[in-house]
Amino acid sequence: MSLDFFINAAYFVAAVMFIYGLKAMSSPVKARAGIIWAGAAMLLAILVTFIHPMVVGNYLLMITAIFAGSLAAWYTGRKVAMTDMPQMIALYNGMGGGAAGAIAAVELLKLFSGQVAMDMATIILAVLGGVIGSVAFTGSLIAFAKLQGWMRKTPRFSGQQALNMLLSLFTVVLGALIIVQGPDPMLLALFFASALLLGILITIPIGGADMPVVISLYNALTGLAVGFEGYVLQNPAMMVAGMVVGAAGTLLTLLMAKSMNRPVSNVLFAGFGKTDEDAQGGPATGEMKSIDANDAAIQMAYSDKVVIVPGYGMAVGQAQHKIWELTQLLQARGVKVSFAIHPVAGRMPGHMNVLLAEAGVPYDLIFDLEDINAQFPNTDVALVIGANDVVNPAARRDTSSPIYGMPILDVDKARNCIVIKRGQGTGFSGIENLLFFEDNTRMCYGDAQKVAQGLIAGVKSLG
Ligand code: NDP
Repeated sequence: MSLDFFINAAYFVAAVMFIYGLKAMSSPVKARAGIIWAGAAMLLAILVTFIHPMVVGNYLLMITAIFAGSLAAWYTGRKVAMTDMPQMIALYNGMGGGAAGAIAAVELLKLFSGQVAMDMATIILAVLGGVIGSVAFTGSLIAFAKLQGWMRKTPRFSGQQALNMLLSLFTVVLGALIIVQGPDPMLLALFFASALLLGILITIPIGGADMPVVISLYNALTGLAVGFEGYVLQNPAMMVAGMVVGAAGTLLTLLMAKSMNRPVSNVLFAGFGKTDEDAQGGPATGEMKSIDANDAAIQMAYSDKVVIVPGYGMAVGQAQHKIWELTQLLQARGVKVSFAIHPVAGRMPGHMNVLLAEAGVPYDLIFDLEDINAQFPNTDVALVIGANDVVNPAARRDTSSPIYGMPILDVDKARNCIVIKRGQGTGFSGIENLLFFEDNTRMCYGDAQKVAQGLIAGVKSLG
């Protein structure tokens, strides 16, 4: 068996393991195993690279980089809170895009100095992977800064869209010159600088509620860039892994955009002319009325039907176990309880499903937006626990609202709505919620877990 055959066979096995891992991740039950399969595939691909004939004499550099990267990933992976996951994903994703861009730069420089030969198709893919990876790199870093709260403003100025168009055109022309004339270092430097700047300029005007779509879009782009550079390096594992990420990321982007009811182009290029200061969500009239946990518990205990709507605040308060305990108490009293999950509730796709599954809530009690919305008018109490943007009726009523048009859970149509939150904090999009001012809404202030505890005590006290 030749070395070449052995290497390619190992890459093939790694590619199959990646695909199997991804398939397993589509089910909450097998997701953990899926991650282990994908991780093992990555380990196999890395180990095989050490015996690749193209890798000569760089072992110390490789081991140092792998050691530093693994240490950083291990530390941050263990430390990160579930609620900080999106920024972590944005950061790691950015690293992938940056790596693809760097491979493109190195390979094109090698081509310039005559160390490698490339046919036209390979040069085109190297250039494409370079630009996509670079945009995904800086774009993801800006998304990270926004999600981490390091960049609260959304800088916008007139002519921004025109500037982005010009810069895109400039980058395309530079890329075409590299393909036609060959990659001289000056041209390459200019090409990568403008691609990196483009990633920054495209991302800075994108506001709060659109971030989930942006993150998954950059994820898809990174996959694509890695796949292209895998072709340049003739590395099958990279090609397959990149394409799998690219395809899965594209599907996720489309699903997220659909759940926000916005085309992806609208997410990337709308919002111009609007600033965060405009993001008010329309005038709220009336006043907020509060209720204590005991009264809220009585109202729920004497209901026929209760729908629980979890959001980011449930994750922060880690209230899922208490909420499941409350559900069981209500069920024992004959109350029909369901859970309604908005596709972008929380801070990552499937965030609420993961938390409810962890608490042991059976899947048949959990409903998606389109399946449950029609039930709210027949619901006695909608219990909103730490959700805000995903239940804001401004999305239906206020055409000037930044979230106008986004499908929401229609909790305002329930007979009564109880909202658990700590105070006057806004949701991720930073806009006021008209729901809180409705006649049928009562605010139950406090940390999600403590209030859930109070509700449990209230129901229990009824005997
Ligand atoms: P929101 O971020 O809109 O609102 C969360 C609410 O929870 C806040 O109003 C806050 O109010 C309250 N809260 C926070 N901590 C606690 C606590 N310990 N106890 C009780 N309440 C608490 O959450 P939603 O789930 O409604 O919406 C998700 C938002 O995040 C959307 O805008 C979405 O676009 C965005 N997003 C989603 C991602 C995804 O993939 N799912 C990724 C990135 C962003 P107060 O401070 O007063 O307590």
